[in-house]
Amino acid sequence: MDSFDIIIVGGGLAGLTAAIHLKLKNYKVAVFEARQYPHHKVCGEYISNEVLPYMEFLGVSLPRTVQINEMLFSTVNGKTLKAQLPLGGFGLSRYTFDYLLYRRAIALGVLVIQENATSVGFESDNFSVLTESGTEYTSKFVIGAYGKRGMLDKELQREFIQKKSPWLGIKAHYKLDSFPNNLVAIHNFRGGYGGLSKTESGAVNFCYLVSYESFKKEKDVDCFNKNVIAKNPYLNLFLNNAEMLFAQPQAIGQISFYKKKPVEKHILMCGDTAGLIHPLCGNGMAMAIHGAKIASESIHDYIKNNSVDRHKLERDYERQWKQMFSRRLWMGRQLQSALLNEKISNMAMGILAKSPYLVNKLIKSTHGQIIEGQ
Ligand SMILES: Cc1cc2nc3c(=O)[nH]c(=O)nc-3n(C[C@H](O)[C@H](O)[C@H](O)COP(=O)(O)OP(=O)(O)OC[C@H]3O[C@@H](n4cnc5c(N)ncnc54)[C@H](O)[C@@H]3O)c2cc1C
Repeated sequence: MDSFDIIIVGGGLAGLTAAIHLKLKNYKVAVFEARQYPHHKVCGEYISNEVLPYMEFLGVSLPRTVQINEMLFSTVNGKTLKAQLPLGGFGLSRYTFDYLLYRRAIALGVLVIQENATSVGFESDNFSVLTESGTEYTSKFVIGAYGKRGMLDKELQREFIQKKSPWLGIKAHYKLDSFPNNLVAIHNFRGGYGGLSKTESGAVNFCYLVSYESFKKEKDVDCFNKNVIAKNPYLNLFLNNAEMLFAQPQAIGQISFYKKKPVEKHILMCGDTAGLIHPLCGNGMAMAIHGAKIASESIHDYIKNNSVDRHKLERDYERQWKQMFSRRLWMGRQLQSALLNEKISNMAMGILAKSPYLVNKLIKSTHGQIIEGQ
């Protein structure tokens, strides 16, 4: 049976960040990842500049050919609002981002086991993790970074898993050279909204979130694009002029925005496993990375100080996580429900168009500060 200091379940942004951070502190780290690298993921692929110093500290150099400092919002009927992004960000595909982190983790000596973790048990102050091939691994700590919703949530009997998750995410890359490099555009349509921004390859990523309620009225993605999305004049223009570069759009279902607990059965959760912010805020990736940093530091401090009070570690982690992210998550919920209400979003656009100060404040309230590397 292989034994590690820390096992991380899930090798997305949060899991790989934690793995690199902990490996740099000389721990024996294993990551379980269900999928092969590299792979595309449903995501808007706009990353807040918050992450830059910390990525540098981790030794991950990110291509930033697409720097984004402007945002455009449009309502269902095409009313618009333009704003400068206070901190800004960049466009980078998840295909590249996750793969760069994976390669850095491997180079440092992290063991990445490309298997599904099927159960995590805790007994006598130690974890045992089982994979789908039936192999058992043990560790002193486990970080849960397996994304929005998975089999493990059922296994761990997490509260939110009982509730319905009525959201669907769809994404594809398109060729449209005239799309501005420095812009992230968020366009509203009945039952959802979509983001447009360029990635490092020059492709425009079109990624949208839609309720099942709205989607199920159409036969498939093509019909949905034609009959619902194209009602927004900006998205209509985009779909008429852009050429899809994927053979098929990618889709994920059962996206859950319910509150989750950052610690469950002694596992420190981070990234979407601890809580997913509404995509319109464009901060989920920075939060996943920041959460991984907090979890890694908490574990490092615990070991370094020869602590034996695991409950204190868990309480402190939960407190820090909530302090850092709860307000952003709350704000994201309010903004999404306002945006998806046609009357309110039209009214809000009118008010916000007259107050760049208010727009700036709203954007800031869904983002964090620069994440320092140390
Ligand atoms: C439609 C949409 C658009 C978005 N747009 C943006 C945006 O523009 N900007 C932004 O900052 N954020 C955006 N987000 C949020 C962002 O995508 C997430 O917050 C981010 O991916 C979280 O990273 P993570 O590492 O927590 O999870 P993930 O990236 O989902 O990684 C989890 C990993 O765990 C693996 N896994 C799952 N279960 C197991 C298991 N049992 N065993 C082993 N491996 C497992 C999965 O294969 C996956 O690779 C968007 C989200 C959605 C839904």
